[in-house]
Amino acid sequence: MPHLTDTLHIRLQRLHQAGLRPTLQRLSVLGTLDTLGQDSFSVEQLFQTLRQHQQPISLTTVYRVLHDFETAGFLTRQWMDGHRASYLYHPRNVPGLVLRLVCRCCGHQERVDDPELLEHLRQQAARRGMEATGATLHGLCRHCNSATGEPGLKRA
Ligand SMILES: [Zn+2]
Repeated sequence: MPHLTDTLHIRLQRLHQAGLRPTLQRLSVLGTLDTLGQDSFSVEQLFQTLRQHQQPISLTTVYRVLHDFETAGFLTRQWMDGHRASYLYHPRNVPGLVLRLVCRCCGHQERVDDPELLEHLRQQAARRGMEATGATLHGLCRHCNSATGEPGLKRA
């Protein structure tokens, strides 16, 4: 794995800044989140990926670590279909501002990674004296859009 010490150092630093003791389990989960390649995930998905790539970790521990990370602001918990929890990961390399597309219908979320756009939004907010930390665009995802046959954004 390239730059192992660098990424490990960054993760240790991130835990430290959040006031979390750098346990092996926390580092495993954080490392897996960094390599998951998707923003929105369920506990089951994360658990399976951990079991595939890392040392065994119990589901109880995964829940505990996720709770710590949620408190630290690494994650946002959201509810799919009203009862199923899923998490949205906030990687450290998004500088200050996270822009999310959120489906009104199923709650699916995706992050927009466009540094230029994010910087523009940040400046617009700063000009009005606001330190922007997040923005949300509501609409219908590809799946729900084709299910309802409704083009474009749906009004609230
Ligand atoms: Zn949807």
